[in-house]
Amino acid sequence: MTPVQRHTPKIELHVHLEGTVRPALLAALAHGNRLPAPAGPPEVFDDLYAFIATWNAMTTVLRTPRDYRRALLAYAAEAARDGAVHLEPIVDADERLGLAGFADVLAALVDAAAEARERHGVSIGLTPQVCRGHDVDFAQDAARVAARFAGRGVVGFGLSGAEGRYPTTPYTRAVNLARDGGLPFVPHAGEAAGPAAVREVLAMGAVRIRHGVRAVDEPELVAELAGRGVVLDVTPTSNLRLGVARPDRPHPLTVLTGAGVVCSVSTDDPAIFDITLADEYALADRLGVDAATAYAAGLRGMLGDATTRARLVAVGERAYPAGSPARPRLRQ
Ligand SMILES: [Zn+2]
Repeated sequence: MTPVQRHTPKIELHVHLEGTVRPALLAALAHGNRLPAPAGPPEVFDDLYAFIATWNAMTTVLRTPRDYRRALLAYAAEAARDGAVHLEPIVDADERLGLAGFADVLAALVDAAAEARERHGVSIGLTPQVCRGHDVDFAQDAARVAARFAGRGVVGFGLSGAEGRYPTTPYTRAVNLARDGGLPFVPHAGEAAGPAAVREVLAMGAVRIRHGVRAVDEPELVAELAGRGVVLDVTPTSNLRLGVARPDRPHPLTVLTGAGVVCSVSTDDPAIFDITLADEYALADRLGVDAATAYAAGLRGMLGDATTRARLVAVGERAYPAGSPARPRLRQ
């Protein structure tokens, strides 16, 4: 990768904070919490569910607000070295934290995000989430906690987890509570489950979708996503490693963007997949989505205030040449 590509401005909208923690820091956090250092990830994941089991085993060592703070500052520094100028990290309202602990974690992350902006020039909008399979009452309480931070660094509310094994609709009230509190819905869907899962979250008011790539199974849905301008936050390597994309077929990123769907580019869990943001932008480029187009998609999908957006528009206009196909789309 050339230095130019590495330092090209990037926006990342789909990255799990817990999945950014590189092995050395993960071991240090485990040690600090008197927990055994987690084993590294396997070479091969059978599917999303096997991946979630690994993810849980690795990331459970994050326990304290300080742990989360260290994780966010470390990733902001790393991503900034790869050109990141805006991140929307996901953080789980895991039941192990408890509600009070979750609130303390968000408070610490809001503070760390402001520090990361100063130190590394990367703006950060946090998007806490609950997981399919979480207790529904806990999810609703977590949504209320998240909404307390709306306008103070938290910009959206998500949903992930074992799609296909646990239903989505029981979390409708949690999603509505967050939305009423000022946090738009930015769920995972259409990764392990097919087009119906994408339609389900659209019906629940999703403003953007993490993954959504299984929409390729239904051309009418692809056309609808393109027509409505719904942004999909696509994670090219993750899709390949979890069997969502097959190496013997065109990558969904290629298919979707070819059909006019706006797709941003992200790592998902860079430490677990042992990749970087620059790696993913380079892979996207090979799949037909250049950095300017990915940046424009990120800008279109990003949440947060007008000041942040205006800064990112200016960054894009400086970085990408006049006449770039992405330039007209930067002003929206
Ligand atoms: Zn994800």
